[in-house]
Amino acid sequence: MAKKKAVKKVSKPAAKKKTVVKTKPAVKTKAGKYVYHFGRKTDGNGTMKPLLGGKGANLAEMCRIGLPVPPGFTITTDVCTYYYANKRTYPSALRAQMQEGIALQEKQTGKKFGDLKNPLLVSVRSGARDSMPGMMDTILNLGLNDQTVGALATKTGNPRFAWDCYRRFVQMYGDVVLGVQKRPDEDHEPFETVIETLKHERYHADIEDTALTVDDLKELVARFKALVKERAGKQFPASPWDQLMGAIGAVFGSWMNDRAIVYRRKYNIPSEWGTAVNVQAMVYGNTGETSGSGVAFTRNPANGNKEFYGEFLINAQGEDVVAGVRTPDPVAELNKVMPKAYAELERIRQTLEKHFKDVQDFEFTIEDGVVYMLQTRNGKRTAMAALKFSMDMQKEKLIDWKTAVMRNPADQLEQLLAPVFDLSEVAKAPVIATGLPAGPGAASGQIYLNAERAVIAAEKGEQVLLVRVETSPEDLRGMIAAEGILTARGGVSSHAALVARQMGKVCVCGAAAVEVDYQKRVVTVDGQAFKEGDWMSIDGTAGKVYAGKVKTAPSEIVAGLINNDQAARQTEKFKSFQQLMKWCSDATRMSVRTNADTPEQTSNAIAFGAVGIGLCRTEHMFFEGDRIDAMREMILAETLEARKAALAKLLPFQRDDFAGIFRALKGYPATIRFLDPPLHEFLPHTAEQQADLAKKIGVKVETIQSRVHQLHEFNPMLGFRGCRLGIGYPEISAMQARAVFEAAAIVQKEGIKVRPEIMIPLVGFKKELDLQLEVVHQAARDVQAEQKVKLNYMVGTMIEVPRGALTADEVAQSAEFFSFGTNDLTQTALGMSRDDSGSFLPNYAELEIVKKNPFATIDVSGVGQLVEVAVRKGRATKPNLKLGICGEHDDDPTSIHFFEKVGLDYVSCSPFRVPVARLAAAQTALSAGK
Ligand code: ADP
Ligand code: MG
Ligand code: MG
Repeated sequence: MAKKKAVKKVSKPAAKKKTVVKTKPAVKTKAGKYVYHFGRKTDGNGTMKPLLGGKGANLAEMCRIGLPVPPGFTITTDVCTYYYANKRTYPSALRAQMQEGIALQEKQTGKKFGDLKNPLLVSVRSGARDSMPGMMDTILNLGLNDQTVGALATKTGNPRFAWDCYRRFVQMYGDVVLGVQKRPDEDHEPFETVIETLKHERYHADIEDTALTVDDLKELVARFKALVKERAGKQFPASPWDQLMGAIGAVFGSWMNDRAIVYRRKYNIPSEWGTAVNVQAMVYGNTGETSGSGVAFTRNPANGNKEFYGEFLINAQGEDVVAGVRTPDPVAELNKVMPKAYAELERIRQTLEKHFKDVQDFEFTIEDGVVYMLQTRNGKRTAMAALKFSMDMQKEKLIDWKTAVMRNPADQLEQLLAPVFDLSEVAKAPVIATGLPAGPGAASGQIYLNAERAVIAAEKGEQVLLVRVETSPEDLRGMIAAEGILTARGGVSSHAALVARQMGKVCVCGAAAVEVDYQKRVVTVDGQAFKEGDWMSIDGTAGKVYAGKVKTAPSEIVAGLINNDQAARQTEKFKSFQQLMKWCSDATRMSVRTNADTPEQTSNAIAFGAVGIGLCRTEHMFFEGDRIDAMREMILAETLEARKAALAKLLPFQRDDFAGIFRALKGYPATIRFLDPPLHEFLPHTAEQQADLAKKIGVKVETIQSRVHQLHEFNPMLGFRGCRLGIGYPEISAMQARAVFEAAAIVQKEGIKVRPEIMIPLVGFKKELDLQLEVVHQAARDVQAEQKVKLNYMVGTMIEVPRGALTADEVAQSAEFFSFGTNDLTQTALGMSRDDSGSFLPNYAELEIVKKNPFATIDVSGVGQLVEVAVRKGRATKPNLKLGICGEHDDDPTSIHFFEKVGLDYVSCSPFRVPVARLAAAQTALSAGK
C-alpha cells in the first residue's frame, strides 16, 4: 500500500504537465494511473473499454464475476496517446506501476519474473477499444532466455515443453518486435521456412510441430536467433525487462502499422483511440496431452443456432488455433478427452451469457486439466446469426424487443437479402471439395491466389474468389475485394473465417482437398487443375466448393416478399425477418419511402415496407424505346409549335408510366420530380448516331450537330438544367404536369387513391418555384375540369442548392414540401463534383481531410448545417411543412441518424435498401428515446 502511494506521487506531475489524460472524456481517469490490475486484486471493469481496451476491460470483468483468469495488468490507452504525442516515449511513472503489477502476478502465481528456479512468464497482448482481429500482435512466453528456459524445464520436469515455449517466444518476438518478417519476394514466413527446412533435414517430411523433440527445438532456437541476428542486425534480448519493454513498444507501434490503418479506415475507428496493452501471467496449453487451447462461441455465430460452438487443439498454445496451422477439433470432442474441463466450459458458457446478455466469443486454455479464461467479447456474427440470436434471446427473456432490434447491425442486413445458389443449378454442379461453412451465402468468382492480384482483378471489374492455403492480415485488401474466400487449412476461428464473418463475405475454410500452388498459380482439386482466372463457386452456408460458375437464386426473404413464394414464407429466416421489420415499425417515427421510376421497382419497395415514393425521376422515362426520338425531336424543335407537337407524342408515354406507378403504390404518395438533367444528355453524340437520327426524324445532320454544339456546356452540372429548363420551356413542365394529372384521374376512377407530389428541382429562388407553380396549377385545373374529378396533389421543391436552403423561409411560402437532394447539395456546398471526385477524394481520405466519403455519408458539420437551416427556416414559415430526403445518403445508417435528429419526416432509398433504412431509422429512434 505504502508503495502505491509513492507511485502516485511520482506520477502526478507527469500527468499534469502533459494534457493527454484530459483528451479522454469517456471514462473518468485517475490522473497518473497508467496500470490497472486484474486477478485477485481487480481495479477495472467491463465498462472501461475506452481506457482499458476491450480485452483488458473484459478480463477485469471476468475476474469480477469469479471466472478463472490468470492475473495480469492493463496499461491504459492513455499511455498509447502519450507515446505518440511524445516521440514514442512513456510517462515516467509507468515503469514503477508496471513493477507493482509484476509483483502482484508473482504473488498470486508463486513464480518470479526472470527467476532461475521458478520463472514467471507473461504474455503481452494488445487490446483496442473495439477488437481488431489479427491487427495487433500478441507475444507469448515472454521472460525466457537461455537460463530461465532451463529453470522452467527443471521445475516442470518437462524440457520439451520448456523448449517449445522458448521456440515460440523467439519466433513471435523476432517477428513482431524485431521485425523479422516475410519479404515481398517470399511466400512464407522466414521462421516457418527454418522449421520446414529442419523437418526435412531431420525427418524428410512435414511432421507436426508436436512431434519435434527437445533437441530439434533447441536447434530451432539457435537457428532462429541466428536468423534474427542476420536480418535484424542485433542480438536477441536476454533480459526479461528489456524483452517486456520492447514488446510493449511493439504493441503501441503496431497501432500505426499499415494493416491497422487499413482496418481502422474500413471500420471508421478513429486513430486517436489508441490501444491498451495487457501483460498477463502465462498459463500453458502446451504441456502435453492434458492441456490445450481453444476458442468458442456461446452460440453458433454462422447460422445462429443455440449450440456450443468452437474448437480446440490438444497440446497447443492459443495462436495455433487461430493461425490455422493445424486443423482443430470441434469443442464437443473435448467432452470425450477431458470431460471435466468440458463441463467447466459449459458452466462458463452459461455464466457468460447470463452476465453479458449477449453471445460471447471467448478464448481459453487448459493447463493440466484446469480451464483458464483468456478473453471474452461480444461475438462477431453473420447477419443471419444476428437475426436468430436476437429473436431467440428475446424469447428467452435475456433481452427485450428493443434490444433485439438494436442487435441487428443495419449495415449487415443486406446479407440476408443476398442470393443463394439456384437450387436446380447447384444440383447439377459438381461438388469438388468440402470445407467448413465459415461465412454463409453463395459466391462465384474467378480465382486468385494472392491478395494483390485479387485486388487488381476486382478493380478491373472481375468477380473474384480469393483462394489461399490460409489467410493472414496481409491478405485483408484481397479479402475486401473478393466475393468469397476459400482456404485449404484452418478452422471456423481461423483468420479467414473471422474476417469473413465480420465483413459478411462468403467463406469456406479448411477445404483440405484443395491444393494451392502459389508458385505455379494453380489450384488442384482431386487431379483437376484451376488456373488463376478460372471460375469456382463456394457455398458458405453448406461448406461446399464447386467447379465453374454456378447461378444464384434470391434469398428466402426476397423470394417470400417479392415473388410471394409460399415455401419461402414458411422458413424461420423469413418469419424472423418479418418480426424484426414489425418491431422496426413499432419503434420508428421517421418513415421510409423509395426511389423508383417503374411500377416493378415500386411494388418491390412496397413489399419491403416502403410507404411511398420519395423520388421518381422522370427523365429515365424518356430513354425507353422510341420515346427518345420524340424527346430529341422536342429538343431539336425550332418553334414553340414544333416543340409542342413533339411533346404531345411524349405525353401518352408519361401518362401510362405514371398510371402504372400509381397503381403499384396502392394509395401511397409519390414524389415526382420534373425534368432535371441538361438537355444535351439526350442528344446523340457520335456522327453515326447523329446521321441515324437525322434520317429518322427528317432533319439535316448539320442541324443536329449545331444543336448539340449549341447545347454544349462547360459545366453542365451548374448549367441549363433543373427548374431552369421548365422556366425556359414552360411547355415541358406543362406536359409533365398534364401527364401526372391525367394518370391520376384514370387511376382514381379505378377506385385507387392517388397522391401525387410534384417536385420542382434545383430551386434557389422563390420566384423560380412560383413560375413553375403557375404552370402546374393550370394543368391541374384543366385536367380536373376535363375529367370531372377532384385531385388531391401537392407541389413542393427539392432543396439542393445552398441558396435554396438559406432562403428556405421564403421558398416555404410557395412550397408545400421540401425534399433534400443531398447529392447536389453536397456537390454545391463543397464545390466538389461527385463524378470527378475520384481523382482526389481517396487522397483526402488518406490524409483524413474527410473522415468519410461525403457523397456516401452526409457531411454533418458542413452540408448538415444547410439542412438544419432549411428545416428551421422552412418550418418557421410553415409549421407542417413536410420534409424528406432523396439523396444517395438516405440509406446510410450514419446519415439516417442525422436526418432523424433534425426531424425529417421520411427518408427515401432504392427498393432493396428499404429494409436497411427501416432498421436504421428504428435504431436511431430507439437510441434517441433512451
Ligand atoms: P488476439 O487479439 O489476436 O486474439 P490475444 O492477445 O487474445 O490475441 O492472444 C492470442 C492467444 O494467445 C489467446 O487466445 C490465448 O490463447 C493466448 N494467450 C494470450 N495470453 C496468454 C496467457 N497469459 N496465457 C496463455 N495463453 C495466452
Ligand atoms: Mg493475434
Ligand atoms: Mg484473442
